[in-house]
Amino acid sequence: MKTCDSFGRIKAAYERDITYLHNHAQLQAGTRSGKVSAATVPGVKRRMARALSKHYEHCRMCG
Ligand SMILES: [Zn+2]
Repeated sequence: MKTCDSFGRIKAAYERDITYLHNHAQLQAGTRSGKVSAATVPGVKRRMARALSKHYEHCRMCG
């Protein structure tokens, strides 16, 4: 599967968020804030998957 720059940018932005949340969850493990971060990760991953598949469907450069 070939993807365009825009696809890469969307993916990179979500991955940055996921990495941040993941690190925060580990640093704050056992705290309320850490639990909230850990619980947010699956939702961000789902949003990333949706955003990327939506882009992929509509993009003329991807495919
Ligand atoms: Zn694209």
